[in-house]
Amino acid sequence: MDGKRAVHTTPDEDRRGRIETVLRGLVVTIDGPAGSGKSTTASILAARLGFAYLDTGAMYRAVTLAALERGIDPNDGPAVTRLAETLSIEAGGTGGGPAIRLDGRAVDREIRGAEVSRFVSPVSRHEGVRRAMVKLQRRAGARGGVVAEGRDTGSVVFPFAASRVFLVADAEARARRREAQLRSMGIVQDIEAIRDNIRARDAMDSGRAASPLVRPAGAFLVDTSTLSVEEQVGLIEAEIRSEAGRIADAAVMRGERNPFAAMRPYYRASRALVRAFFRGAFGLEVRGAEHLRFRENYIFASNHMSYADPPVVGCALDREVWFLAKKELFRNPLFARLIGAYHAIPVDREEIERKTMKGIFEILARSGSILMFPEGTRSRTGELRPLKPGLGYAAVSSGVAIAPVYVTGTNDLGRCLLRRRRLRVVIGPPIRLRADRIGEDRKREYRILTAMAASELEMLRDEARD
Ligand code: C5P
Repeated sequence: MDGKRAVHTTPDEDRRGRIETVLRGLVVTIDGPAGSGKSTTASILAARLGFAYLDTGAMYRAVTLAALERGIDPNDGPAVTRLAETLSIEAGGTGGGPAIRLDGRAVDREIRGAEVSRFVSPVSRHEGVRRAMVKLQRRAGARGGVVAEGRDTGSVVFPFAASRVFLVADAEARARRREAQLRSMGIVQDIEAIRDNIRARDAMDSGRAASPLVRPAGAFLVDTSTLSVEEQVGLIEAEIRSEAGRIADAAVMRGERNPFAAMRPYYRASRALVRAFFRGAFGLEVRGAEHLRFRENYIFASNHMSYADPPVVGCALDREVWFLAKKELFRNPLFARLIGAYHAIPVDREEIERKTMKGIFEILARSGSILMFPEGTRSRTGELRPLKPGLGYAAVSSGVAIAPVYVTGTNDLGRCLLRRRRLRVVIGPPIRLRADRIGEDRKREYRILTAMAASELEMLRDEARD
């Protein structure tokens, strides 16, 4: 022995270490209807994983409490929104159960009162209130290590969460639990009345316009009707740990080559040129590229403001991408050849035809990536138009993750040139699907997944403006 000391780790230990690192950065979401056991599950799970517990329902309750205290009418959307935007609400603690602070004051007890319970539904219906809360919730989850619980945490707040859990339980089981819970508080209520109330709340939560209760596409569905708390937590924890393993195995280590980011020489050279041009002349800045360090291909979903978007977004991505260009652009044969060399696929603006979709699937099947502009047409102001469900269809059918991208400044290149404005591309975390979790109603899944991508794009837009 030469006396030097070295630390040796076995491949197994390395992998365990990587999984642990991935695990600590994860966001887990738990959604479901009233009485499905979300709070209990989420708080125990958070304690077991050493995560923070983010009780989003408590945040809506805190806004309601503040409104009632200030005499603001819960149905007055603009007034409640103004209030929600100025309040300081801290939610989530580690270990000692839920903790919620409203302007620095602990309000755990007050927010459970009958008055707040009565008015929380109308308060949480206002879109402005939801925007304000979602912003806070996202900030709380930005570093990972969070179990978020509520109605829309997997579909709207954290659509990219690695583990999206959706709890269900039949009305009978939920009524029984609620009755026992009330009894333990010394309140006796008729089980029939409780069951009716649960059904009514289900209808209201699922039917509202802003962020209705939906099972996020690709979510882990757990029916808790006949499970004990111990069983359901165990099931979910095992699922999260195995997901962390999957992600750790797919991650590309620093310095390692990512086979999915391979580029042909001509593409690599011209991409570098285009990128140098936009960077040098217009100050192009790219954020979020670290989200793409996985052995997987993507369907990039970008907002669309100008004809400059394909080259700007294309050069910001560290891989070859095929993109859809509207048919009219192919009329000029010279231009058609040029964009063809850069992987443009002709597409009908209104409707992606079967032939185009087939082409897309072929590219995705051979590990290529696609760049889509799912708004279907340019939105010069940067306001997002509704996304076409073709995006969700492509992702659900191919099983390829959606990577949301927000580009800003392409509609105002003149000012970017003068550095009065930023030319920026922000890449968001990929929304991954588990094929075995896709429900029966595929059309519904397309819509839900498309909506998840849309809410992620909205978040990126806010980020791109900062
Ligand atoms: O979960 P909890 O019963 O505390 O939630 C209170 C109310 O807050 C719900 O009935 C629902 O109207 C609203 N809420 C929501 N979105 C969430 C969480 C709760 O609208 N993510």
